[in-house]
Amino acid sequence: MQKTSASSAHEERSGRPPGDEGAAPQGGPRAPQSSDARDARDARDARGARGRRPRAVVIGSGFGGLAAAVRLGVRGYEVTVVDKLDEPGGRAYVHRQDGFTFDAGPTVITAPFLFEELWQLCGRSMADDIDLRPVTPFYRIRFHDGATFDYTGDAAAMRAEVARLSPGDVEGYERFVKMSEAIFRVGFEELAHVPFGSWKDMARIVPDMVKLESYRTVYGLVSKYVKDDRLRQVLSFHPLLVGGNPFSTTSIYSLIAFLERNWGVHFPIGGTGALVRGLVSLIEGLGGSVRCGAEVRRIAVEGGRARGVELASGERLAADIVVSNADSAWTYRNLVPPEARKRWTDRRIERQRYSMSLFVWYFGTRRQYPDVAHHTILLGPRYKALLEDIFQRHVLADDFSLYLHRPTATDPALAPPGCDAFYVLSPVPNLLSGTDWPATQERYRRSISKLLEATLLPGLDGALASSRLLTPQDFQDRLLSFRGAAFGPEPVLTQSAFFRPHNASEDVEHLYLVGAGTHPGAGLPGVLSSARVLDQVVPDASKFR
Ligand SMILES: Cc1cc2nc3c(=O)[nH]c(=O)nc-3n(C[C@H](O)[C@H](O)[C@H](O)COP(=O)(O)OP(=O)(O)OC[C@H]3O[C@@H](n4cnc5c(N)ncnc54)[C@H](O)[C@@H]3O)c2cc1C
Repeated sequence: MQKTSASSAHEERSGRPPGDEGAAPQGGPRAPQSSDARDARDARDARGARGRRPRAVVIGSGFGGLAAAVRLGVRGYEVTVVDKLDEPGGRAYVHRQDGFTFDAGPTVITAPFLFEELWQLCGRSMADDIDLRPVTPFYRIRFHDGATFDYTGDAAAMRAEVARLSPGDVEGYERFVKMSEAIFRVGFEELAHVPFGSWKDMARIVPDMVKLESYRTVYGLVSKYVKDDRLRQVLSFHPLLVGGNPFSTTSIYSLIAFLERNWGVHFPIGGTGALVRGLVSLIEGLGGSVRCGAEVRRIAVEGGRARGVELASGERLAADIVVSNADSAWTYRNLVPPEARKRWTDRRIERQRYSMSLFVWYFGTRRQYPDVAHHTILLGPRYKALLEDIFQRHVLADDFSLYLHRPTATDPALAPPGCDAFYVLSPVPNLLSGTDWPATQERYRRSISKLLEATLLPGLDGALASSRLLTPQDFQDRLLSFRGAAFGPEPVLTQSAFFRPHNASEDVEHLYLVGAGTHPGAGLPGVLSSARVLDQVVPDASKFR
């Protein structure tokens, strides 16, 4: 993996400065040319030396970008992934400090078959590189009164847990599980990897959506099946994993319950960074490269077509196609010139609803807490009202619901001997709250620490060995996410499928989008599926030969 932007794969192979012909001039689009002349010049620029593979530049090395790079490499493209950060992974960046390994983002690995597929496309097996372990319970849910619920994939154990909480809801729970499977069969198997390029694609699925009651929210659907308030929370929190409010996210997202139940929840030995490194090695094995420390300032658009990218350093990379794995709102608003955008105007981008953000505290302890599960959800005193504060009112509340990650429960090597690695995550409003995070973060961290100390982690304050924070401000400044949203546009029905920024740009030819801000949406299954969609919308490499 290259870590500097000093040399370009394109430059090395073509013997001419990158982008000296292929990229748009700095002053904006050129005058229109005849399409024949343009096509001939495109072909020449893109091919350079005879027989060269067509070029693809992928902006961003999040899981969506890495998966897209693997797929394009397999299909014969010469792929360069560029990322502004100094290491790949995006939200799955790995922080190493004080002997601890902190995976910054995703920790609940579902749909392992989507990763396996990437290895298989390269003629390999994921098990050659990754030791993926099942995690159980999937989640230990701790209610505000201290009672707990172990959420697992074991049907009998789940029935027993539901009966313990609310005996009258067992039958309704079983029916909910069946409904979740029916939703999965349509929502995941038939829709997740399909490009929603036109109204017709949307119209085609309307009857199924009506049948599956997609007009209901996740909480609304769950409430139809079970009565107990705590059980409703247990069965409805999943949209929060992809940036959605259970009270406004379409019930299609109830499919996550079946996805987890059928394929389990997993965690790789070495942390999620092992998956990032594995994908980078697949890309390199296909002749592609990953360049870190290379921020894209602009996508070069000429005659309505993406021609390459221009880096913050001024270097240009010519390309036949450009794939943006950067935040979709940021891509259009900041990387595509305004004159090239008819649909994704600044006004439209500003009018979209954006997901919540996150406050994450990564910390290591000098002692271990063996009784704490790998994944714990600590529900606070308020559910609906807290979510309204976060999503609608955009105010930072004094109370919170938390997710606590203890990866050392599965892989003790992520911390020094006798220690534990953790992160605790609190869903918070995006930057529309106006919170001054640099001034607020320490006070907020302390109140979370106090709660953890009083509940699951006695003696925490005195045992701290390492600490770092991630705030909504960092989502904006470090990850270039519009309004500091952690998951792109909020996953409501009116911002899903056809209504989400398309995988094949509506505005710029040969520009494609993958990742959380495009179809189907956030979360690892979502972003890996967005890369799958590319197989249908990106032309065969032979078109450019
Ligand atoms: C704390 C946290 C916990 C999560 N937990 C889970 C979980 O347990 N399970 C799950 O499935 N999902 C989880 N998610 C969601 C999941 O991690 C994300 O949806 C997914 O990783 C996003 O991937 P992506 O492909 O959209 O790219 P991202 O990870 O967002 O990466 C985009 C990359 O683009 C780069 N970039 C942006 N602009 C530019 C530019 N101009 N030039 C160059 N590079 C640029 C950025 O540096 C970044 O590396 C979690 C998210 C967070 C933040």
